[in-house]
Amino acid sequence: MRSLPAEASELRREVRDFLAEDRATYGWQPHVDSWISAWDPGFSQRLGRRGWLGMTIPTEYGGQGRTHLDRYVVTEELLAAGAPVAAHWVADRQVGPALLAHGSEYQRRRYLPDIARGERYFAIGMSEPEAGSDLASVRTRAVAVAGGWELTGTKVWTSGAHHAHAFFVLARSAPLDPAHRHDDLSQFIVDLDTAGIEIRPIKLLTGQHHFNEVVLDRVFVPDQLVLGEPGQGWRQVTSELGFERSGPERLLSTQPLLAALTGRLAHETGRAPGAIAELGALISQVTTLRQLSISVAASLSDGQPADLAAALIKDLGTRYEGAVVDTAAAVPDAEPDPNSDDEFTRLLAEGLLHAPGFTLRGGTNEILRGVVARGLGLR
Ligand SMILES: Cc1cc2nc3c(=O)[nH]c(=O)nc-3n(C[C@H](O)[C@H](O)[C@H](O)COP(=O)(O)OP(=O)(O)OC[C@H]3O[C@@H](n4cnc5c(N)ncnc54)[C@H](O)[C@@H]3O)c2cc1C
Repeated sequence: MRSLPAEASELRREVRDFLAEDRATYGWQPHVDSWISAWDPGFSQRLGRRGWLGMTIPTEYGGQGRTHLDRYVVTEELLAAGAPVAAHWVADRQVGPALLAHGSEYQRRRYLPDIARGERYFAIGMSEPEAGSDLASVRTRAVAVAGGWELTGTKVWTSGAHHAHAFFVLARSAPLDPAHRHDDLSQFIVDLDTAGIEIRPIKLLTGQHHFNEVVLDRVFVPDQLVLGEPGQGWRQVTSELGFERSGPERLLSTQPLLAALTGRLAHETGRAPGAIAELGALISQVTTLRQLSISVAASLSDGQPADLAAALIKDLGTRYEGAVVDTAAAVPDAEPDPNSDDEFTRLLAEGLLHAPGFTLRGGTNEILRGVVARGLGLR
């Protein structure tokens, strides 16, 4: 178990002050799942100017050279405020660390300074129509050509591809050997305005456009934009997933709703004793999960692998997030309405619409339990 350093509280206060002032000036509303759906480049750039993006990127690449624990504090506050962080989220959380771990000098200089300024946004091209949980069965092909590679295939559920500048694509760079399915996968950095890419919206039932299908038809990627070693994609992707799964967004997506629920129940003490008891249970759960999540951030800070702990926290955290929505929905007279002026009513509607994805994105809970079982030597 690890705790945040004493100076974290000063940083936390600065972030809270910044968020209160920024919200008052720019008028954004808090959202459930703000990290996946509240896309606002202006906000990302203001955050970059404050030095709160690319915090763990070394200063020579335009970052702040700070610790994962400092970044953790900032991230927690952004999520708790429901701030519009989606534009920079993938770039800051996982592309920066991946470029530092596997990227070439050219790639670091090309992308990291813009990421730290909140000006370069990324999407993730892992899932395919026939490759979700079983990621190793990706069929997107990368064929070596003069000066680079040609990529052909279809990615699906690609969050934010219609806004992002580039995405990381996992592709098969040699014919599949069924006995060694994890071999010969490679990662490519693909600029989304390259010829041969078609981004097709997949609308949610609500009509919102969040996901995409991204079709690649002989898309040329220069050798300079192969991430890491060709053929080492599986090893690279699985270490990236440690960053993708371990952060506080796996337990704080519903934090604005929890805060609004607390406010609502403060006026309902006589009518909802059961809900108040459940609220107490939720707060004790999130306190424990947060402690676990801070310990993972500390491991990442020390350069330790945290895949197993990250999988465990994501399983527990996303189920907790679902319980926040269920508890809020059970409050007497709760009537979800995404257009309501009442914050609880609006956030409840968002929570209900987003909850089905909590346990799926970033690897389903069934798959995560397999990771945990293998990590503990039980399989
Ligand atoms: C909100 C959201 C955002 C997303 N954003 C992205 C993105 O930006 N980029 C990207 O690449 N992907 C993204 N995804 C896709 C996500 O990673 C996949 O949905 C997820 O990996 C599951 O794959 P699948 O949907 O193909 O389901 P499947 O793999 O078909 O699984 C269907 C069901 O079967 C279960 N199952 C499958 N295999 C096993 C097994 N071996 N043992 C037990 N149960 C099993 C699963 O748990 C699941 O319940 C996103 C998904 C969501 C919901």
